[in-house]
Amino acid sequence: MIAPDLDCGIAALRNLIADARKVVPFTGAGISTECGIPDFRSPGGLWTRNRPIPFDEFLARQEMRDESWRRRFAMEENFGGAKPGRGHTALASLYRAGKILALITQNIDNLHQASGIAAQHIIELHGNTTYAVCLDCRERYELPWVKEQFAASGGRAPDCRCGGYIKTATVSFGQAMPAEAMQRAEAAAKTCDLFLAVGSSLVVWPAAGFPLMAKQHGASLVIVNREPTGLDAYADMVLRHDIGDVLEPFIEA
Ligand code: NAD
Ligand code: ZN
Repeated sequence: MIAPDLDCGIAALRNLIADARKVVPFTGAGISTECGIPDFRSPGGLWTRNRPIPFDEFLARQEMRDESWRRRFAMEENFGGAKPGRGHTALASLYRAGKILALITQNIDNLHQASGIAAQHIIELHGNTTYAVCLDCRERYELPWVKEQFAASGGRAPDCRCGGYIKTATVSFGQAMPAEAMQRAEAAAKTCDLFLAVGSSLVVWPAAGFPLMAKQHGASLVIVNREPTGLDAYADMVLRHDIGDVLEPFIEA
């Protein structure tokens, strides 16, 4: 069912949240566009201008690792200062109210953490771009250190002291999905009574399988996205509106 208008949709969502014991939000790039980070499909955005570097190419060639870090630092100049938006803040309010025990996100921008949700309650399916890890020993590296090494060597991606390659802690095309995050997301989807998909086109698999999994296990499915998604037909309610406008009334000081 598509909510007839914004106010009716918000009222219905308020009832569903009040009745739910366990809400699991599932967020995509759309929740961060009002923070100035373009989503995947916006024309001319950083994500579409460059062909993403597949994982095997990152591993195979130093030039690809250099290029990947060059892009990352260019991105930092554009989005490094992004702050949580109304959607993030509203979900953080529901979290503080005890409604949300776990949040699943496809985003890599760290804005749910920045909004005040504890890291251990955030399930990142595609990792996080605000820090880096060694692909071999999993040692964590902070971006300012990588940037310093990168600049000092004239644009060469640094390696770990163990010799492994250092990469942002994100999941690239062709890289395995993180097993633990996938398991936790599955458990959250199967045990919630309200699954709230926000700002995702729901076409990227396997991530888009979670809303269906929740539905099959008895949860209500609500989709908030201004464009139609791949799963609208399965939803109990679809709010085709701006995410910030829909979620702003749920912000509690
Ligand atoms: P997507 O780009 O496929 O879909 C985003 C959806 O959000 C679109 O359907 C769009 O209509 C909608 N949308 C955008 N702004 C909105 C707003 N203000 N109100 C309502 N709807 C809005 O994004 P996806 O499904 O998350 O898949 C993209 C992939 O790329 C993800 O897997 C993610 O890892 C990565 N990505 C991450 C970020 C980020 O971390 N912020 C940004 C871009 C891409
Ligand atoms: Zn290492």
